[in-house]
Amino acid sequence: RNVYNVVVLGAGGVGKTALVTRFVKKEFTERHVPTVEDLYEKPLHLRKGVSAFLQVLDTAGTYHFPAMRKVTLQFGDAFILVYSVNDSDSLNEALKLQQEIYAAKGRDDVPMVLVGNKCDLASGTDKHLESHALASSLSRGKNCILAETSAKFDVNVTGVFTALMAQVALA
Ligand code: GDP
Repeated sequence: RNVYNVVVLGAGGVGKTALVTRFVKKEFTERHVPTVEDLYEKPLHLRKGVSAFLQVLDTAGTYHFPAMRKVTLQFGDAFILVYSVNDSDSLNEALKLQQEIYAAKGRDDVPMVLVGNKCDLASGTDKHLESHALASSLSRGKNCILAETSAKFDVNVTGVFTALMAQVALA
């Protein structure tokens, strides 16, 4: 079995749980339930005759113990870094997390997708264009794909996981 550990990270409230729930259960809820840490399992069809089995870890934004965070980062084979397209602080947080991942893994060719979630809220606004430009300049030259999603309206959610697995196959 091709089992991969996918860790979802990002600031509180950007929609990590919403993305994972949309991907795993095809559901969305407006209610914000702060996550401690949840592990989901889901098979993903990659191409004819080939599936990957994903163990998706939905994390809390913060850790009280840095050592635990390190264990979480080492556990991941691939990472989804989430920010919200209408919140530039959350983008900065995602980029800090990216550096932490590289440090924990001891290399920087880690399969990763930087996801701007809530694209339904800010689509086409100045704020949106700004965050997109910043995200693309910061991810350039790194082994990191950029994507935008709406967990609410199911835009590109499965695409993020498929793109991530394509990165894993190349790594
Ligand atoms: P987390 O703390 O990162 O896990 O964030 P949640 O998944 O709990 O989501 C925080 C809030 O944002 C909730 O009220 C969600 O309903 C809302 N939310 C999540 N994704 C989207 C989205 O794509 N669009 C919109 N408009 N709201 C979203």
